[in-house]
Amino acid sequence: MSIRTTVLNCPVDLCDSAYALSQVLHAVNSKQNYHIVTINPEMIMNAQENENFFKILNKSDLNIIDGVGVKIALKLKGINQEQIRGVDFARKLVELANENDFKIGFLGAKEEVISKAIENFKKQYTNLNVVYSRNGYFNSDDEIIEEIVKAQPQILLVGLGSPKQEELIVKLKNNLSGTVLIGVGGSFDVFSGIVKEAPMIYRKLGLEWLYRTASDPKRFKRIFPTLPLFLIKCIISNVIKKG
Ligand code: UDP
Repeated sequence: MSIRTTVLNCPVDLCDSAYALSQVLHAVNSKQNYHIVTINPEMIMNAQENENFFKILNKSDLNIIDGVGVKIALKLKGINQEQIRGVDFARKLVELANENDFKIGFLGAKEEVISKAIENFKKQYTNLNVVYSRNGYFNSDDEIIEEIVKAQPQILLVGLGSPKQEELIVKLKNNLSGTVLIGVGGSFDVFSGIVKEAPMIYRKLGLEWLYRTASDPKRFKRIFPTLPLFLIKCIISNVIKKG
């Protein structure tokens, strides 16, 4: 079951990954398009200023909670919700495609990254039916849309970073029928093995962001001041609502 609530007015869905996977199966089997967002604090902060992105978050089919920041924001509202890590969920979709012989497509990341990620997947999931793959550095959305419409994947993983991936997914959704689309951020970098996943202890403590920032200090600018500002805004919004 899933319950929809909001964080700073953005919809987030309270569910576990088993529910999200059941929705994917249902969408594929009933030939419906289905857009899943793996929502994090940066996206919610972006939606406060970017009206188009706010609309995208309101029109998507399922906004699963990625990022410990959203988990904390929900806790402030008295809601206990486990996060569903985007990378883990993306891997589950690949497994699902492999088990059910669903046509799968991959779009995003640098050429050497996406080809290595697919090579790794094919070694592990020997039944995988990859009908589309392309790196994420292209000039024309129309060309990509045309190629994907031709390939007709039943599941499409798009890793272009946010909001680029969600904006393209909306365009794709208007042109496809029967595809589950999900923005997976930098997941292909992890699947390729080029970027190391945070050790389990960091993941368990919700400190993955700290590990990623320490490994790639350029990320510091992205997290600060966005993450603390997000939490301050959540605290203020809760005080106002309770008052
Ligand atoms: N990327 C891409 N095309 C672009 C910009 C970015 O394919 O025009 C890829 C980039 O190579 C990386 C991913 O998008 O694989 C973005 O990763 P990031 O770590 O920014 O995303 P996050 O996981 O933080 O959402």
